[in-house]
Amino acid sequence: MALLKSKIVVVPLGEVDFIMVNRLAAEIGPIFNHSVDILKGMKIPEEAHNIIRGQYYAVVILAKLERAKANPREKVIGICEDDLYLPDVNTIIGHADTLSGTAVVSLWHLRQEFYGLPEDDSKIYPRLFKETLHQMAHLFNLSECRNPKCVNYFSRMMPDIDNKNKRFCDICRRNLTDVT
Ligand SMILES: [Zn+2]
Repeated sequence: MALLKSKIVVVPLGEVDFIMVNRLAAEIGPIFNHSVDILKGMKIPEEAHNIIRGQYYAVVILAKLERAKANPREKVIGICEDDLYLPDVNTIIGHADTLSGTAVVSLWHLRQEFYGLPEDDSKIYPRLFKETLHQMAHLFNLSECRNPKCVNYFSRMMPDIDNKNKRFCDICRRNLTDVT
């Protein structure tokens, strides 16, 4: 009997636009050749909140997502609106942990009001999509790509995300085909 394929599970953390999450779930499944479930929203864990920094610690969020897994092979990605950090990094857009199969992406830095530009909702979803693909790629054991046009390129800030394509480059695509 063929081994059952693990699922990708998308988890809205806190107040996140459900239409956007739905669209994301529908679009990432075929790319990774996995079926996708959306969990009913989960609260962002209070224990992740660092009051001094006014930010949320991504590692604690991933630990909570790991506890939501129905089986070890599932890959879980949380979407939130909150400002995330890692101890050595001021701020991050997303974070993934290959071992636990969990990742998180925040919309905080994907909104251009943050950069003093006029609000433009149409640009937020493409950025979320690209950064979700980038973090998901880690969960499928791909390392970051050096091609600035590849969706798997490390984007420090919003302009880097806007500058890259929404697709994997040929090399990443081939590596992905080997593991999905
Ligand atoms: Zn690539």
